[in-house]
Amino acid sequence: MARYEKLFIGGEWVAPVDGSLVESIDPSTGKPWAIVAFGGAKDIDRAVAAARAAFEGPWRKMPGHERAAIMRRFADLYKENAPRLAELETRDNGRAIRESRMDIGSHNNWYHWFASLADKMSGRTIPIEDSVHAFTTRQPVGVVGAITPWNVPMMSAAWKLGPALAAGCTVVLKPAEQTPVTSLELAKLFEEAGFPPGVVNVVPGDGPGAGAHLVAHPDVNKIAFTGEGETAKRILHTGAETLKRFSFELGGKAPHIIFGDADVDQALNAATSSAWALCGQSCALGSRVLVERSVYDRVVDEFVKRSAKVRVGMPLDAATHMGPQAHLEQLEKTLSYIEIGQQEGADLVAGGKRLTEGPLADGYFVSPTVFASANNTMRIAREEIFGPVAALIPFDGEEEAVAIANDANYGLAAGLWTGDVGRAHRVSARINAGIVWVNTYRYIRWSTPYGGFKASGWGRENGLEALDSYLETKTTVISATGQFP
Ligand code: NAD
Repeated sequence: MARYEKLFIGGEWVAPVDGSLVESIDPSTGKPWAIVAFGGAKDIDRAVAAARAAFEGPWRKMPGHERAAIMRRFADLYKENAPRLAELETRDNGRAIRESRMDIGSHNNWYHWFASLADKMSGRTIPIEDSVHAFTTRQPVGVVGAITPWNVPMMSAAWKLGPALAAGCTVVLKPAEQTPVTSLELAKLFEEAGFPPGVVNVVPGDGPGAGAHLVAHPDVNKIAFTGEGETAKRILHTGAETLKRFSFELGGKAPHIIFGDADVDQALNAATSSAWALCGQSCALGSRVLVERSVYDRVVDEFVKRSAKVRVGMPLDAATHMGPQAHLEQLEKTLSYIEIGQQEGADLVAGGKRLTEGPLADGYFVSPTVFASANNTMRIAREEIFGPVAALIPFDGEEEAVAIANDANYGLAAGLWTGDVGRAHRVSARINAGIVWVNTYRYIRWSTPYGGFKASGWGRENGLEALDSYLETKTTVISATGQFP
């Protein structure tokens, strides 16, 4: 059993004061594989105090290029340790190791890119009258509470810590209770890279306890959250008292639109892989596949054929395409939606079962699942399942495709496949989503803003917009004459 019995607070490894030791479950076996320290309210208080001291002390005063140098050291250490982090993340959340390696192997780019911005946060000079000099400066918002989910713990940390540290903020990172291990490993790298004590603190803990206490804390200036919409609403209520800044990356129900004039093979490659990647547990996956009727039967056939080729297996096996659902509750949720889909009258044409053969017996495995003849009024097309379940919805023409795509509470991502460049412009302009991919899918980089319209979130991660969300703008007006007004 791996043991992680200390929290990382103020540059030191400390036992929880009012927390506990909790088992972390390997979802491929259903058995505990690590013991992890969970912090309580007093531990969060200590971490916030350490973050405040580091903010008011060394970090904020350090010139941007020196902050950048430490971040670059960290980025290089992260790259060196990426294979190990990938393995640990796979143990904790069951993501197939080939995916974890690819994903975590890229995060150093986030830290490098944001490091390159750390000394470039200039303001503007605003011309008014000759007797007045008005200008803006950018200041870090202060202490940030970063609250991350279980599906992509390292990615979510990189998306928050990169811009926060570049801006000059300090951070208390609280990972999800199901996947705390890699964030504690991350803390070791922050230590090794030479960040001043307290700049990054890592306190695993449960949501209603440690998480809510972090949100309520009056000395935390911003909460950067990724998770479910219902949790975001609770966070807003708790945080309202202290009027913090919030950024929210929430759920999605992305439409992946395939027009008859598209390169259908390419579209299928993207649509099938994005239906089942991360075992369906990602906000941007194309869980609603909208298909023009002229190619609908072909797409359904191919989905079925390709689902049979997905290798579901033990996640640390390099040959595995799809591991288990990350925890028992998620497994139950996915299975219940598969039931709902059938009751609603959608046609279950592939998968739909928990897999319990041989080595998979005790894990949380589900077969890649395809519903044909789905329509957009069904719950499987409207609610976020977060499992490997694709709902294939037929449509006729551009108008209907746009209407169905936009008929959703969410607005995070969308994909569209067409051979007509005019249509690509027309349709992408009308879709209400924070990111639209045309003839590609899930193309995400450190420099491309990412975030949701509607119930998918507030604000943007990645890109210059992300940095902006960790900064305050100050306007200074100086009278050159000493006269008022
Ligand atoms: P969740 O909301 O259950 O938990 C997320 C985090 O919030 C965890 O760290 C949890 O401990 C914490 N939390 C729970 N209750 C809290 C409270 N009352 N106060 C403070 N913190 C609290 O979400 P999840 O199930 O871990 O993650 C899955 C969700 O995340 C999905 O809806 C998915 O779409 C979303 N997601 C969105 C993005 C994006 O970029 N938009 C990326 C990944 C995941």
